[in-house]
Amino acid sequence: MQLSDRINGIIGNGPNDWEVFFRAREMLAAGQDVVELTIGEHDIRTHPTILAAMNKAAEAGHTGYALISGTDALRKAVAERVQERTGIATTMNNVMITTGGQAALSATHAAVCDPGDSAAFIDPYYATYPGTIRAVGANPVAIPTSPDSDFQPSIEDIKNGLNGAKSLLINSPNNPTGVIYSRETLEGIAQVCIDHDLWLISDEVYDTQIWDGEHISPRALPGMLKRTLVIGSMSKSHAMTGSRCGWVVGPEDAIARMGDLGMTTTFGVPGFIQDAAEYALGAGKALEEEVGAPFERRRAIGARLLAAQNVIRLVKSGGAMYLMLDIRATGMSGVEFANTLLDECAVAVMPGESFGQAAAGHVRVAMTVEDSVFETALESIIEFTRKHAK
Ligand code: PLP
Repeated sequence: MQLSDRINGIIGNGPNDWEVFFRAREMLAAGQDVVELTIGEHDIRTHPTILAAMNKAAEAGHTGYALISGTDALRKAVAERVQERTGIATTMNNVMITTGGQAALSATHAAVCDPGDSAAFIDPYYATYPGTIRAVGANPVAIPTSPDSDFQPSIEDIKNGLNGAKSLLINSPNNPTGVIYSRETLEGIAQVCIDHDLWLISDEVYDTQIWDGEHISPRALPGMLKRTLVIGSMSKSHAMTGSRCGWVVGPEDAIARMGDLGMTTTFGVPGFIQDAAEYALGAGKALEEEVGAPFERRRAIGARLLAAQNVIRLVKSGGAMYLMLDIRATGMSGVEFANTLLDECAVAVMPGESFGQAAAGHVRVAMTVEDSVFETALESIIEFTRKHAK
């Protein structure tokens, strides 16, 4: 039987730059000692107090259908958090709870794009972006940034690259680069959105992982409240990747319509997970800092090691759980570098090309192993790069 063009086309037919990731997994499964610095998953698990709250909620009977757009208590907790962090009045009617940030990315694009519309995003990008846009029947339009400007988007390039898009998706702090968009960049982006009557979808799932600089949510910029949909998630801030709990914050009417979408897709997030998320948000900054602390420490280790050599350029970043390394001194592509590094040093990193062509000749290092293992792995990467430098 014939499947739809839409579902056949989700992945697209670009190169498969995830090969190194799958090879590393196979080597690990075969018992080989591989240092895995590929995906963005903490090396700690969900905090025991969050699990206790989850268990308590389940034991108390919150295992039936939950409200589709989220429990009132969690929607209020997210609204309070957003209001406190941005100063913008926000109520539970501005919040829809989703099965992770990924479902929020999907729901927002479904909400603002009709089939055949174009939806723009900044390259390099979180790897699911183009597929998420294709899955709602829209056409992905990548707008490249440059390593020469440390992957801060150029406002001129955005204007020239929009190609009639209905929406623009940005991500700061950024995966894969760790770059935090400056106020100037965000104000420029806001002006483009106003001038071109665009929806701005702002993926802020790393907003608690700020190591240098400040996070500005563009929803708080003048003229942006009615056209901004913010994506949030418990995954990165609270090491709850498997719990699948995130949200969209936006104008009340958009949130209400996304509730209709929730009714026909996920039918909501399990109640005991939402109760655990509510507990976790209520636990405040201390818990978020505890979850983020290992990345801040490892970033300092990376900065120290990379400052003492000159074959790799560390992209100037301020947040998230990744380091982006410019390895063009070897003349290799990111794909070739990552594959050869895996073979010669048993260290697995992601090729920059897995996140778009703008990050070609780079590799992304996830800071997701214990400090001493991370330090040794980075030393191997530096040594390997020296050996292969032209
Ligand atoms: N957005 C970005 C930039 C990400 O890096 C990720 C996950 O790695 C997500 C969204 C989706 O996260 P989740 O669906 O676990 O909330």
